[in-house]
Amino acid sequence: MLPVIYSEEFLDHKTGKFHPEKPERLIAIAKGLKKSAFAEQIEWLAPTPAADRPTLLSCLAKAHTATYISKIKAIASSGGGYLDTDTPVSPRSHDVALLAVSAWLDGVDTVLTRANPAFVLARPPGHHAESDTGMGFCLFSNAAIAALYALEQPGVNRVAILDWDVHHGNGTQAIVQTHPQIAYCSLHQYPCYPGTGKASERGFHDNVLNLPVPPGSDIAVYQPLLEKKVVPFLANFQPDLLIVSAGYDANADDPLASINLQPKDFGLFTEHCLQLTRKILFGLEGGYDFSTLSQSVTATIERCLV
Ligand SMILES: [Zn+2]
Repeated sequence: MLPVIYSEEFLDHKTGKFHPEKPERLIAIAKGLKKSAFAEQIEWLAPTPAADRPTLLSCLAKAHTATYISKIKAIASSGGGYLDTDTPVSPRSHDVALLAVSAWLDGVDTVLTRANPAFVLARPPGHHAESDTGMGFCLFSNAAIAALYALEQPGVNRVAILDWDVHHGNGTQAIVQTHPQIAYCSLHQYPCYPGTGKASERGFHDNVLNLPVPPGSDIAVYQPLLEKKVVPFLANFQPDLLIVSAGYDANADDPLASINLQPKDFGLFTEHCLQLTRKILFGLEGGYDFSTLSQSVTATIERCLV
């Protein structure tokens, strides 16, 4: 069985009709999984409600400033607004973003307990959110918060994050790069939004590996990077948990970038992760072409079930 942590409440973060990061993304993925050949092997789990997680706010406070967290709450309670031109906050966004963080933490618990992969199907995404700024469709830095939470669990001394979203996870990197117990590795189009992620950015403890790829790249560019750079970097770090910031906007059909991966390529990505460990938490980041997004998540999960 493969746990997928999902709630229809994640659809209540409203971004507007013309925004690419819309609720229909999750609907398309859930639909694809439910009609897949392995649908019966998926265990749908509801996230722990924020109110039932007394430590949730202290987890959040490890990654974000109190001022920033209050700001999101205030904008939502006042009826909504924008953090930047492409990052809306709707009336329920604060609560939904908190539930998304809780879902990522549930994912950590599930993976550590079962020593098997789990997938968090939540939104809003998180990897662009910095400690005091939301941006790029992201409110709270889900992957970084999950990594910091994991380090508090028994037997977890090192956590690695692999970010294969087509955009660099500036927020995740900024939050974790000062922590010697967390490694961050990103494959991303460069140049592209948000403009960070140069190969020269190595973290405060040589714990960051950025692998920028040029527009037009396909699996022929990615595969050697996976084999010769990503896997050795992660293997050398010997993580007790691997968190994947699983964005699927490097697909050829994605409207937001210019990389030419195919959905099946994410099965190959997943296979490389599984060579390292079965303790893998996948959490959704970007991916804006509904069809290839759904197929890619299906390819990721299918590979975990093989
Ligand atoms: Zn992205």
